[in-house]
Amino acid sequence: MTNRRERRQNLRLPALPEQVPDNGVSWSQVLRRRVYLAALALGIPVLLMVWVLQLGQPAPDQYILYAHPLLLLMCIWAGGWVLRGRPLRLAEQVVFTFNAVAVLAQSLMTVLTPGASVLDLSSSTYWMLVALSILAFLIFDTGRAALLTSMSYLLCVTLPWAALLSRGEGSLSANTSLLRVQLTCGAILMLLSGLAWYRAQFLQERSERLTLYHLAHTDPLTGLPNRRALYPAVDALLASTAQGTAGSVILLDLDHFKRINDTYGHNVGDDVLMYTAALLRSALRDGDTVGRWGGEEFLITLPDTDTLGATRVAERVRRLMKNTPQPPAGQVTASLGVATCEPGDDLRVLTARADAAMYEAKQNGRNRVVVAQRSELAEPGMLSPPTLTLWGEEAG
Ligand code: GH3
Ligand code: MG
Ligand code: MG
Repeated sequence: MTNRRERRQNLRLPALPEQVPDNGVSWSQVLRRRVYLAALALGIPVLLMVWVLQLGQPAPDQYILYAHPLLLLMCIWAGGWVLRGRPLRLAEQVVFTFNAVAVLAQSLMTVLTPGASVLDLSSSTYWMLVALSILAFLIFDTGRAALLTSMSYLLCVTLPWAALLSRGEGSLSANTSLLRVQLTCGAILMLLSGLAWYRAQFLQERSERLTLYHLAHTDPLTGLPNRRALYPAVDALLASTAQGTAGSVILLDLDHFKRINDTYGHNVGDDVLMYTAALLRSALRDGDTVGRWGGEEFLITLPDTDTLGATRVAERVRRLMKNTPQPPAGQVTASLGVATCEPGDDLRVLTARADAAMYEAKQNGRNRVVVAQRSELAEPGMLSPPTLTLWGEEAG
């Protein structure tokens, strides 16, 4: 016999809510793709323009002449990759590596090109450095990205000064423009690091809040929404009823559940609850909600569903339960109460009607569906309205 944990893993329990859209791609990934495409749409014409302008120069910049076509090819490849919806990680790493090599190559040019203006050669390096840093903060965690940024910055600051010193032109007063560009770039990089740190804090807090919300609204045994999480679902149903749309609830209670616990032990009882939860989820539409109302009771909300529709669903669920043995407990049946929202209902009134119907199903022999009658048919002074049995059968 498989152990309890294995059996639990075999169940299809619900995933975290609201974090992943239907197609399985997170919203942050979608947003990232859009940002990359926008950056590429901007970067490709700029790279091309700078390259074409250099071609017309009498002494074209060797770096731009050779590096820009390569960068252009890389951007076109990355654009195609992102557009085809391929994994972002590889594109990010390729673009980052190309940029890092480009920044390094540009810095080295300042050292290896004697007689050329160090400021002219290195100034565009600093803008590339800002782009590289943004990419690093997007790809890596904040600490690693900050380390990469500061190392690249130090390299790009020291190399031009090394070149100047080796030529005997390293005085600060003669190179104030270079100093200004370097300090401005440093300030921008610090600002970027600060923003990235703030973003990381924000994302962590958001994820903690989501986890807490999930824990507070999920039944730990079945993974279904718990009673607290069902309240808004019922409220939404009542609100749509006020707008004229039909809506119903089903209260389901397992029959003789105490017997299962007493006969097979609480662990088997827990397993039955988990199997029932998975069964109910599989039997319902996407827009329906099923949650654990308490103990061995489950509440189902059915938006846009009138009494007849809800009764059909309840009967389908009842048959499914009856015909799906849950070893070792065997056949487990349920009694179901159906109640349709009525004008003036609130959560208490609606669920009390479903509860009364479910109770009547128990009274009438269990393993059956009972539909709560409309409340205006109730006799004045009655606490809960009478119910009408539509479907059901004697418990086997
Ligand atoms: P009925 O057909 O009238 O509903 O009978 P029942 O035995 O299902 O109902 P009763 O209210 O007598 O017993 C419900 C049992 O459900 C008692 C309680 O110990 C058990 N129970 C409630 N929550 C859990 C749980 O999380 N795990 C297990 N294993 N048992 C639970
Ligand atoms: Mg009960
Ligand atoms: Mg019960």
